[in-house]
Amino acid sequence: MKVPIVNLKKQYSKYKEEILYTVDKVLNSGNYVLGKELQSFEINFAKYCGTKYSIGVASGSDALTLSLLSLGINKDDEVITVPNSFVATVWTIANIGAKPIFVDIGNDYNINVELIEKSINKKTKAIIPVHLFGRVAQMDSLNEIAKNNNLVVIEDAAQSIGAEYKNKKSGSFGDTGCFSLHPLKNLHIYGDGGVITTDNENIYNYLKKIRNHGLKNRDECEFWGYNSRLDEIQAAIANIKLKYIDEINSKFRRIADIYSKNLSKKILTQNYFNFESPVFQRYMIIYKDREGLINYLNEEGIETKINYPIPLHLHEASKNLGYKLGDFPKSESFAKQTLSIPIYAELEDVELEFVISKINNYVDNIAKK
Ligand SMILES: *Cc1c(COP(=O)(O)O)cnc(C)c1O
Repeated sequence: MKVPIVNLKKQYSKYKEEILYTVDKVLNSGNYVLGKELQSFEINFAKYCGTKYSIGVASGSDALTLSLLSLGINKDDEVITVPNSFVATVWTIANIGAKPIFVDIGNDYNINVELIEKSINKKTKAIIPVHLFGRVAQMDSLNEIAKNNNLVVIEDAAQSIGAEYKNKKSGSFGDTGCFSLHPLKNLHIYGDGGVITTDNENIYNYLKKIRNHGLKNRDECEFWGYNSRLDEIQAAIANIKLKYIDEINSKFRRIADIYSKNLSKKILTQNYFNFESPVFQRYMIIYKDREGLINYLNEEGIETKINYPIPLHLHEASKNLGYKLGDFPKSESFAKQTLSIPIYAELEDVELEFVISKINNYVDNIAKK
């Protein structure tokens, strides 16, 4: 048996008829950019997240970039985020000329809220918590810190569509919420795409202009903007996926539950508060002999991945930020220990049982005691 880490073709075959019918409809409409498919998706997505507005953009990275600009983050402003994330969380800050300031994570893989305040100074303007692997960061305390220090909050919700924290959905806690529709995210389209959520009408109006060249109407440009729109075909597909996202997420949750109940006690898994409902964009385990486990699973046909093997502060691209090995012990130790195992809505029960039995066989029987 072969169990890949993701299986995108399988999900496509499930929704194929509806997707092809819709793509054909859009192609026949003659309208491919900024039309009614996008409008409809934006209304539905905002409703789903419990926010007033949503704005479709070209990628999750653009969602972050345009959010930073819409909130007035400028050159030399400091923006707090985590060293344990995908690289887009940090380059979007750096590329607008602002300075990324890292704060270490806690055992939940998310920003350690207790460490935030000592990184705040006069230059600090924003916090970008990442809801990593589909688990919302500790937003109550984080928002309180932001409020007390007059900082804006941009949620990097790229991995967390539908995740809940105290009965509120990810993307509804910050000044903006930034989502990705990339093929490796829970709600995915067939190419790049992103969405920004907000309750603020001024930010919404600004974002609608900045994603469309800075135009305030067909002919008049108010400021230099970007070309960053979610096109009609992808918006129509996103609308289809949105109808099924709760069903898709509930399958992720069920698989995560089966893993946590059945994996050997020698494997460290996550514990959750009862007020959280993560969506498990990845299922992470911690095991001391990670390399041995990876190799064994690989031989058995089970694919795994490391998210993320290099913490953001140790990339070559980060060298000007002035950080060094040892600065963020938790992120660094997680980069060495954690492993992502197969989880997706289309994972069959026999495959799931196979993965569990092989992991348990390795850690309980094969690994050196
Ligand atoms: C995927 C991802 C992004 C970037 O999204 P793209 O759509 O690929 O540009 C940003 N942050 C995190 C945490 C991500 O996982």
